[in-house]
Amino acid sequence: MNYIVIDLEWNQPIHTNVGNSESKNYEKSRICKDMQFEIIEIGAVKLNENFQEIGRFNRLVKPSLYKKMNPIISEITGIRENEFHKEGKFKTVIRNFLDWCGEDYIICTFGNRDIHELEINMHYHKCEIPWKFPLKYIDIQKIFGIENNEPNEQRSLEMVSIYMGVEQKKVYHRALSDAVYTAEIMKKMNRENFEKYQSLDYINLPKTKKEEVEINLGNHMECLSRGFDSKEEVINYKDIYITRCPVCLKKCRKKIRWFADINKYLCVARCENHGLMEGILYIKNNYNGYYALRKTFQIDDEKYKVIADRKNLLREKRKIKRNK
Ligand SMILES: [Zn+2]
Repeated sequence: MNYIVIDLEWNQPIHTNVGNSESKNYEKSRICKDMQFEIIEIGAVKLNENFQEIGRFNRLVKPSLYKKMNPIISEITGIRENEFHKEGKFKTVIRNFLDWCGEDYIICTFGNRDIHELEINMHYHKCEIPWKFPLKYIDIQKIFGIENNEPNEQRSLEMVSIYMGVEQKKVYHRALSDAVYTAEIMKKMNRENFEKYQSLDYINLPKTKKEEVEINLGNHMECLSRGFDSKEEVINYKDIYITRCPVCLKKCRKKIRWFADINKYLCVARCENHGLMEGILYIKNNYNGYYALRKTFQIDDEKYKVIADRKNLLREKRKIKRNK
């Protein structure tokens, strides 16, 4: 199996950088909700299973939606509007890219944005997405955080590559050079962790109830529901509230029932053999519908107390609000 280390540059409508509200409203009407970020460059490095480089892919993509370059994006990447005139459009470039990828590979990216935006762009352009559920990929930024005991930090590519002692001979924020930096970082990392701490893509959803399995991602379990037409249907779907032990997969009893926090729900459950687990539930939507994502982590007593305190604090806040 090969590793396809990918990096993208994208353009976005100009309104996000414009200060005064009048022009903001004007530009806002031009944002397309189905594709807020349009890919303008795809860069990738192909590594074989011994992490030797066996190929490179580097193409600009002629934009079809946001044809005017956002000046900030131009500034960061150095990409100018007049560079696109002889470039292929997304559909052509992505077809070339997927052909170049070959058959047996896993995608590697720095962070979780690229694969997400790639699929959004593919969907917008009505390209057939060749990846079926579950699509696992390797997020180097996440694994770097786990290896360095800071799982919630998102360090920049530049910081990580300097920290890992990668030779600094290319500019950042161009697709190929960022892919090369990511590949060089990978060569210096503990390879077992690429197998152990993979990430699950959330745009590809299970098609059936049977596909809604718990997937072990090294330090936690994840379960995705299939897509539903409305948020209410997801909330009423009882299976999303089950917590299973990440170790033995048995259903666990709740110690703290599900409660709503900002943008998510939390619970604590206990496995007789493996102790306390934190459940985190998100309800989201994408072009495949509304879905639930549940993550389960093994936790210690200290974390249990933090969650219990959080629940009490939110309850008190609600009480004060009601009395007002
Ligand atoms: Zn267990």
